[in-house]
Amino acid sequence: MAVERWRQGFEDCHYGTARGSVGCYAPPMHRIDLEALDLAADIMHDATNLAMAARRALPPEAIVRKHDGSIVTAVDVALQVFILDALEREFGVRPVIAEEDNESLGGKLAAEAHCRALLREWGFEGDEADIHRLLCAGSFDRPTREVDDVWVLDPIDGTQGFVDGNHWCPCLALLRHGEPVFASNGYPTLRGGVLLSAVRGEGTWSYPLDAGDEGEPTRLGVSREPPVRGSAVRVVAPIQTSESQAVARRAVVEAGGFEARLVHADSQAKYGLVLLDEADIAYSRRGHGPGKYIWDHAGAVLLAQEAGAWIGDTDGRPIDCSRGRRLEANNAVICAARGLGPAVAAVLSARDAAEGVGR
Ligand SMILES: [Mg+2]
Repeated sequence: MAVERWRQGFEDCHYGTARGSVGCYAPPMHRIDLEALDLAADIMHDATNLAMAARRALPPEAIVRKHDGSIVTAVDVALQVFILDALEREFGVRPVIAEEDNESLGGKLAAEAHCRALLREWGFEGDEADIHRLLCAGSFDRPTREVDDVWVLDPIDGTQGFVDGNHWCPCLALLRHGEPVFASNGYPTLRGGVLLSAVRGEGTWSYPLDAGDEGEPTRLGVSREPPVRGSAVRVVAPIQTSESQAVARRAVVEAGGFEARLVHADSQAKYGLVLLDEADIAYSRRGHGPGKYIWDHAGAVLLAQEAGAWIGDTDGRPIDCSRGRRLEANNAVICAARGLGPAVAAVLSARDAAEGVGR
């Protein structure tokens, strides 16, 4: 039933807007071979390097605001087209949940022109109809539990950091029946630039971004050794941290009898810091909101699991990535090293209860 629903939504999108450019769409009849996902990691490796170069030559007119007021650049949109085109060539047409769409640049002509110039520079051979179709393709909006394979893409998580020279990361995950089975996040600002990739059951691996095919991968293993009481524990706080956010994060650590040290990052870089032993705790609370967007968390869920970190909700449950575009079933995403996860979950659960939020 759900399969029929996504199939219909997918066809509505493809045939309704760019029928002439795509020919006959046939729903995929087989799953993606997990052993072939090295190719997807290669695409994210290339995409992250292209975005780094584009960032160094980013004109002011390529930075605009979406209708909701959030910041976006021509690079975000071009990168989404580039990645989805490459994935489609390697793995066939699949349902996609992605952040950007045809409205992202909002008809701002200079930004759209820069987007097209980047795509030409990157070797994209499609036309305007292909760009329109690929941006439309990311609009999948259904539960994914009954769908074989769904890509989840945020071409640039942390666009403000991309513009300001702070943390940002291209993030890709593959859901199989609603659970992450592959993740590949580019982290240009961590460890001199690394790509972290994982396939379920195969561990999390770090690849240098600047080494092309020559870089030696390193397997990540997050420490489970508990900190000594009274020692420093590093907790990630937003770049623009309010006093109340800083107090709350210190309280999470101090409740365990440790000294809090704040490390600042937004985006999935906060989870990358834990995986790379530059922080011990990172979390994102749902609060009164409708649930966090899945593309801001799905990749980190698998990267953390496969690296041996604790990742879960305030009640210790796993993160449910099967609800569609948002994490509707979870009150928080908590990622922790050094065995600190359950204690952090307990503190945040108590805070949710005190503030009357959560499910
Ligand atoms: Mg983004």
